[in-house]
Amino acid sequence: MLSVLSVRDKIGVSSGRLYIDGRWHQWEGPHFNQIHPSTNEIVANIPEAEQQGVNLAVSAARKAFDEGPWPRMSASERKRILKSIADCILENEEELAYLQTLDNGMPITYSRYSRFSGQNAASIFDNFSSYVDKINGETFPRLYEDSNIQFMTYREPIGVVAAILPWNGPIITFAMKVAPALASGCTIVVKPSELTNLVALRLTAILAESDLPPGVFNLVTGGAETGEALSNHPGVNKVTFTGSPVVGQKILSASGNNLKRVSLELGGKSAALVFPDTKSVKTAATTLMGLCSTILSGQICSTPTRALVHTSIMDEFLHYAQEQVKMVRFGDPFDPSTTSSPIITKRQMSKILGYIESGKEEGAKLLFGGDTPGDDLRNGNWINPTLFVDVNNKMRIAREEIFGPVLCVIPFETEEEAIRIANDSEYGLAGCIYTSDVNRAFRVSRSIRTGSIGINGYATNPNVPFGGVKMSGLGREGGREGIEAFTELKMINFHLDA
Ligand code: NAD
Repeated sequence: MLSVLSVRDKIGVSSGRLYIDGRWHQWEGPHFNQIHPSTNEIVANIPEAEQQGVNLAVSAARKAFDEGPWPRMSASERKRILKSIADCILENEEELAYLQTLDNGMPITYSRYSRFSGQNAASIFDNFSSYVDKINGETFPRLYEDSNIQFMTYREPIGVVAAILPWNGPIITFAMKVAPALASGCTIVVKPSELTNLVALRLTAILAESDLPPGVFNLVTGGAETGEALSNHPGVNKVTFTGSPVVGQKILSASGNNLKRVSLELGGKSAALVFPDTKSVKTAATTLMGLCSTILSGQICSTPTRALVHTSIMDEFLHYAQEQVKMVRFGDPFDPSTTSSPIITKRQMSKILGYIESGKEEGAKLLFGGDTPGDDLRNGNWINPTLFVDVNNKMRIAREEIFGPVLCVIPFETEEEAIRIANDSEYGLAGCIYTSDVNRAFRVSRSIRTGSIGINGYATNPNVPFGGVKMSGLGREGGREGIEAFTELKMINFHLDA
């Protein structure tokens, strides 16, 4: 029977601790167990910080912001510290990959080499460190002849940031929030998902060894209660959140108490539009089915889970989608030949199986999958890659984020119809278009209401802003917009003759 405990013991995972005000705290309060999704074995015992731990962490971050050197430090010194963190992450990328796989079951090959890797997190820190000396304001010309007032703006750090993370990419979601927050001069309290703490603890140890002054970076662990205490805390100036829309809505409502700034990276129900003039139906079908069945088995926010396929190429598309799933290998996540992840929790697994039932009941045709593999894997949370055809965009499986290995194929006849179906969604995170017609590529990409869209593929890059419209989020992460989101603009008017 599959077990991950030998790897856990080899790495030497110890119980979790909180990191507050430059010190590790052995927590006296309640603890909970972190469970591995591929076996449901216990991998670690983690503190639940609750209100008390959150209060300590926020007051340390508050003090470090209001009185400490970090927001006032020269750009070159702050940049040096961030670069040293990037270097240290790179030196420890292999250990981080193992911890990520021990956190969420991502196959080790992807933990090591994909955009979820430590290498990518190091480049995110490196990239944001290069903005530190380029966060600038503007000066403005005189408005009237007799006016002698010089107007200018400064970008100042927003204050204390609360970062609340999801479980699915623990290395890069940490980097995408911590690196720009620190680069802008903010102080921060991070709460990882209660499902994945090991990467966050290791990255915290890296930050603890750096020259960051005490209180600039703090880590609290825990579940919804701890997240709520953090997002409601009056000492916090900004919440940056990645997770589900339902929690995002709660965070936005809670922000009203002191008008916290809020950035939300939420879920999606992205569409891929496959036109008959695509260069390769095979590429489109294997890519789209591959995104739903390998790496995190469809548990990635930007995955196109609605494949809108022109009726003239439908048979070919379905043939290659079916061929692709023959490549899927479940099993030991530390075996480099494993291609796919388990489902993160038993609860999420029953939710996905419920969606599969609802698809059948609403009249979609299940072409393959919908069931679970047995034998050696029966202790874990696994669902076979699933494909529904004849899906109508009104069905629940086409409207709600399933967050699992389920691809819904929706037929279309005309470009206008495909655009209408793609836009008929509460979500607007990502999407892609497969076509070899350049005019169509631009026309359709401009017509689809999402935060991003790929042409003949889909990619993200930490230098480039990413985020959603509609229920997929608020604000952008990455690039200049990503760092400006951690600043406030101050206007200064200098009365020159006074
Ligand atoms: P989740 O919303 O269940 O949990 C996210 C975090 O919120 C966790 O740390 C959790 O403890 C915390 N939390 C829960 N209740 C809270 C509350 N009431 N107040 C404050 N914090 C609370 O999401 P998840 O299951 O970890 O992640 C999956 C979701 O994240 C999917 O919807 C996925 O699409 C989305 N996601 C989006 C992006 C993006 O960039 N847009 C990236 C990754 C994941």
